[in-house]
Amino acid sequence: MKAKCTVCAQPFEQTRADQRFCSRACKQKSYREKKAEPVDRGAVKKMMFRMSEYRGFMEEYGWDRESFPFVLFCFYRRLVPAGLVGNDLYEAVNDIVPNLDSRNMKEKPFIDFKAKFLSNDFEILA
Ligand SMILES: [Zn+2]
Repeated sequence: MKAKCTVCAQPFEQTRADQRFCSRACKQKSYREKKAEPVDRGAVKKMMFRMSEYRGFMEEYGWDRESFPFVLFCFYRRLVPAGLVGNDLYEAVNDIVPNLDSRNMKEKPFIDFKAKFLSNDFEILA
């Protein structure tokens, strides 16, 4: 059966019905090109959070961990401008924390964020 090579587009005689390449060279070329495709997941830099910042923040403001879990800290932390550290950072996070009735944790932006958090979409450092 006549077929067209999926790599070089030359017609060739198939020896099997599922044969897609005219030659071994084209088969290898196809394999190499597939391998060279960029892997999207690895290329995107993950958002990053540090446990040490959470601990520092909790010490500074004395929240209990149940009403202010790490994931909630990260939710607000990502809104703080880059470059802040230590007390400046904790203060900036605290400034954007609305009054902490548990309603915040039932709203969609937080629920979406938490789903990403739980599916390892972020990088967590010690
Ligand atoms: Zn070919």
